[in-house]
Amino acid sequence: MSDPDAIRILRAALRTVPDFPKPGIQFIDITPILRDPRLFGLAIDLFCKRYENLGLEAVVAVDARGFIFGGAIARQLGIGFIPVRKKGKLPYRTREQSYDLEYGSATIAVHEDALRPGQRAALVDDVLATGGTAAAAAELIRALGADLVEATFFVELGFLNGRAKLAGLPMASIIRID
Ligand code: AMP
Repeated sequence: MSDPDAIRILRAALRTVPDFPKPGIQFIDITPILRDPRLFGLAIDLFCKRYENLGLEAVVAVDARGFIFGGAIARQLGIGFIPVRKKGKLPYRTREQSYDLEYGSATIAVHEDALRPGQRAALVDDVLATGGTAAAAAELIRALGADLVEATFFVELGFLNGRAKLAGLPMASIIRID
């Protein structure tokens, strides 16, 4: 199947839930894709194709839905998976970064020995909304001295202009909703 066909099918399978978790938020629900192994496979393959010749050494993903894509991608590429989690969840010594969300605010953390200086890493998440989460995760990757090769999102909510927060960072999305 061609990439545009795969993207069309995946876009059609996304479910948009209005007013979740708060009035005014259009929640992008990826579970209809996850429950269908063919669709989940198409999504993971699209990420992995992007990364084919980038010499990636690690996939970094953000708690919690980023883990679903990130773990599968890392396994398929045969490289390491690095979890970025909400503050207080990782057991070892961490670096932390605070940021604003589309709804609320948060602090995320990564183990201080999760990435080596110069290690080539991609950042993966399910949805790019305002960009705050990804910008904070990118900051953590940089703080560890690793090389952030690309931030890749399954869905980009173009109307929230999260790209602006990631200015200067190589980024891409598989499905863009305007
Ligand atoms: P942001 O920091 O605003 O870019 O928000 C991105 C993070 O929040 C991602 O980890 C998403 O999982 C989640 N998120 C934000 N907005 C939405 C949305 N409208 N639908 C689904 N997930 C969202």
